[in-house]
Order: sequence, then C-alpha cells, then structure tokens
Amino acid sequence: MHFDYSAKVKSLQRSLLEFMDEVVYPNEKTYEEQLQQADSRWTVPPVMEDMKLQAKQAGLWNLFLPDREYGAGLTNLEYAPLCEIMGRSLIAPEVFNCSAPDTGNMEVLVRYGTREQKDQWLLPLLEGSIRSCFSMTEPDVASSDATNIEATIKREGDEYVVTGRKWWSSGAGDPRCKVAIVMGKTDPDAPRHEQQSMILVPLDAPGVRVRRMLPVFGYDHAPHGHAEIEYDHVRLPADSILWEAGKGFAIAQGRLGPGRIHHCMRLIGAAERALEQLCKRVRKRTAFGKTLAQQGAVQDWIAGSRIEIEQARLLTL
Ligand SMILES: Cc1cc2nc3c(=O)[nH]c(=O)nc-3n(C[C@H](O)[C@H](O)[C@H](O)COP(=O)(O)OP(=O)(O)OC[C@H]3O[C@@H](n4cnc5c(N)ncnc54)[C@H](O)[C@@H]3O)c2cc1C
Repeated sequence: MHFDYSAKVKSLQRSLLEFMDEVVYPNEKTYEEQLQQADSRWTVPPVMEDMKLQAKQAGLWNLFLPDREYGAGLTNLEYAPLCEIMGRSLIAPEVFNCSAPDTGNMEVLVRYGTREQKDQWLLPLLEGSIRSCFSMTEPDVASSDATNIEATIKREGDEYVVTGRKWWSSGAGDPRCKVAIVMGKTDPDAPRHEQQSMILVPLDAPGVRVRRMLPVFGYDHAPHGHAEIEYDHVRLPADSILWEAGKGFAIAQGRLGPGRIHHCMRLIGAAERALEQLCKRVRKRTAFGKTLAQQGAVQDWIAGSRIEIEQARLLTL
C-alpha cells in the first residue's frame, strides 16, 4: 500500500512543523511555569490562549474535522501525519483546537446536532472559546461494553431527567468546560443496542457535581483532568437529546472510531520525539570509554524503537 501524502498535506505538514519550532516548543516551559505559579492548578495558563490565537491566524485550526462547512475537510488519512506532529508536544493539540474530547464532541454535534444545538455548543467549541467533556464510563459497570451503562435518562413531560455516576470524564477540570455529552439509558426494555441515548448537559445545570479529579499514574493532568461526576436528577429540556432517543450506542461508535485513532496518531509523534531525544543524549554521554551511541546494546535498542515506530505508523494509517 502507498501512503504518500498529497501536496496539500505536505504543505500543511511544513507549516505545522514551522509553527511547532517557532511557537509551541519555546512555550512548553512557560506553560508549565504559569501552571505552577497559579493559585490553583485548575486554571488555564495564559500562554495557551496566545498560542491559539496565533494558530488560528496561521490557518492551522480545526484540522481534525472532515466536514468542509465547519472544518478543514481533510480525510482521516490526510489528517494522520498532521495529528502526529501535534502529538510531539503535550500542549500542541489544544493550540490547534484539535484536542480530545472536544474533537469527538464537535464531530458528534456536526453529524447529529440540530441547528439550535450547533449554535449553542458547536460554534463556541469551533472557536475554541469553550471546552467540553464526554461522560460515558461509570465506576459501577464494565464500561468497555457501553451496553452495560446504567445511568438513566428518563422522559418526564417536556423534559429529560439524567441520573447517574460517571468517571474518567476527561477535560471536566478545565474552567472553560461548559458542556458534557452524557450517555445513559432511555429505554431498558428496548433491543440491546437501542436502549441508550446521548444528551447535552450544561455543567452549571442544577444536580451536576464534579466530585473529584482522578490521577493517572500519579499525574493529575491539570488543568484538563479526568473527573468523577455525579448527575443527580438533572432536568433538561427534551430538545437536549442528540439525534433521537435510542441512538446513543450508534453515536458512541461513530464518535469513538476516529477519536481512538487520533490518540494513536498523536502517540506516534510522542514516540518520535522521545527517540530523537534519546539519540541526542547517547551522543553526549560517555560510559566505559565510549559514548553510549557506540555501545552495541544501545544501538540495538534504537534500531528496535525505529522499527516499532514505523510499524505503529503503518498500522495506524
Ligand atoms: C486517561 C483516561 C481518560 C479517559 N477519558 C474518558 C472520557 O473522557 N470519557 C469516558 O466516558 N471515558 C473515559 N475513559 C474511560 C475509558 O474509556 C474506559 O476506562 C474504558 O472504556 C474501559 O472501561 P472500564 O474502565 O470500565 O474497564 P472494564 O470494562 O471494566 O474492563 C476491565 C478489563 O477488562 C478488559 N476487557 C474488557 N472487555 C474485554 C473483552 N471484550 N475482551 C477481553 N478483555 C476485555 C479490559 O481490557 C480491561 O483490562 C478514560 C480512561 C482513561 C484511563
């Protein structure tokens, strides 16, 4: 199979690499320092908004969105090498408004949102002026099978009432996070894959409570974070439902398809950067009379890593 990139993708690759060199890498330290110096870790370092503005002006914005009306109109295959470049820095995806879970949520709104839902939530997300989270996973059930979800979305007159406990809702720690897409059951008696629905829940709605932020391997991932959230009889207008009742499982499949692959693309970029740093280090460090680069075992590790990264890239493409 051939995976040569088109002229359009190559040109975007060049622009992104330049932007990474000129804006993103030099500001990684500033971002960390501003986060350390803030009163709370759950605030956004100001340098982030500066970088977003520059990326928007450079036309490096919403590249993830295949939709031509709202986004860059690239296919996933065209986006892969660009997403990989963004993955080289932990702060880069947000700079280009291409970070999870907003990307998946925006895709859901583009595909299934009504005009009103798009105006209220999609447009500010595309602008990068608010952020969002996705609440599917629950502590009490094995959530890798989304049919196990137990949260309820009950119809009462002109309203839906959402009740349930969720965790790992990424991004809910960010003060700009204004809306959650919540998955729950509208009809437990329907066929297995038609019991679930998805609904838009403003995070300031009465009954929504962020209980705690979960650490991942000891890191809090602030100011983004991964939250446990309680939805306690949250009352919402009936037109908050996405697509229609019973379509939640279908939406989840559509949402997680590209979203999971985006993670793979970014991780290849992270791996490339790690290998580059390793290669620089082994030239500088001397042990037992030779640089590390001259030691056979180290050369073997580098070759192994090179092969693994190439394999992962081809599998992802
Ligand atoms: C950093 C991070 C961010 C996340 N962000 C979000 C988010 O924003 N929103 C959200 O809703 N969720 C999020 N998640 C949750 C994630 O989607 C779930 O953890 C995942 O779907 C697995 O569900 P579970 O934790 O309930 O594990 P379980 O379903 O309980 O699985 C337990 C174990 O069983 C294995 N297993 C499961 N099914 C099978 C199978 N069919 N065959 C063999 N083995 C199997 C799994 O590999 C796992 O080892 C996040 C998780 C992490 C770690």
